[in-house]
Amino acid sequence: IAAARIAVVTGSTSGIGLATVRALAGRGCDVMVNGFGDRAEIDRNCAEIAERTGNRIVYSAADLSRPEEVRAMMADAADRLGPVDILVNNAGVQHVAALHEFPDDKWDLLLAVNLSAAFHAIKAALPSMRERRWGRIVNTASVLGMVGAPHKPAYVAAKHGLIGLTKSVSIEVAPHGITCNAVCPGTVLTPIIERQIAQQAQVTGLPEDQVLQTVFLERMPTGRLIAPEEVASAIAFLCSDAAGSITGAALPVDGGYTTH
Ligand code: NAD
Repeated sequence: IAAARIAVVTGSTSGIGLATVRALAGRGCDVMVNGFGDRAEIDRNCAEIAERTGNRIVYSAADLSRPEEVRAMMADAADRLGPVDILVNNAGVQHVAALHEFPDDKWDLLLAVNLSAAFHAIKAALPSMRERRWGRIVNTASVLGMVGAPHKPAYVAAKHGLIGLTKSVSIEVAPHGITCNAVCPGTVLTPIIERQIAQQAQVTGLPEDQVLQTVFLERMPTGRLIAPEEVASAIAFLCSDAAGSITGAALPVDGGYTTH
């Protein structure tokens, strides 16, 4: 990543997002961190990354299910760090249940956090990216943005939507030096997966200790879980100057999940 850049990474208090903050800060970016969690632990992580990289790391507790908080977070990032060059829409939530029992409020929440928040953040980021004629937008989709899976109707719909949004934005912003891409991870061992094991055991009737193997690993020819850092490296590459001709792509980081 050339020059000092200013980045916002949503949903970056754990998992893929936190690894992405580390990757971008390690490549010279000042970063706004966002997400939920224990405030003392978040502050410790931000201070440690700032100390190690010499970059500014600030935190926003914005709840991205609320459009006004997404807009406030983007304004806060510009106020505290400067005009945002890089936006990584990574926040995501999951809920696993059969469709006929799927709670309406979970449908609304998953669409809000996994899809609409990206729309609102991109909308807020574009004016200054266009003015400066440089920008990088990366949306964390999923293999479930490319293929279906049972018991995850809202997640699959939102992630397919996020890839559609990525393609649409990429065409519109291409003349302005801005790229917009998606990454599509397979199974990465993070809290979002740990929390799903009990829900998956319930809907599939499998014992919890077989869920990882049967539900998550079987589809990946590599036969192992993906590390958050592997996804973060792909995101950081898409944010670099070197990736300037890659746009509108949905890049699998999936151990071969979508090849069969
Ligand atoms: P994670 O649970 O560690 O991270 C999710 C992040 O989003 C956390 O920081 C959390 O606090 C934040 N978040 C949740 N709701 C929020 C809200 N309303 N407002 C603001 N922040 C909110 O899980 P992860 O696996 O690192 O997930 C990151 C992204 O990767 C998600 O979009 C997820 O769908 C996607 N993904 C994960 C996997 C996987 O196997 N782990 C696979 C494909 C895609």
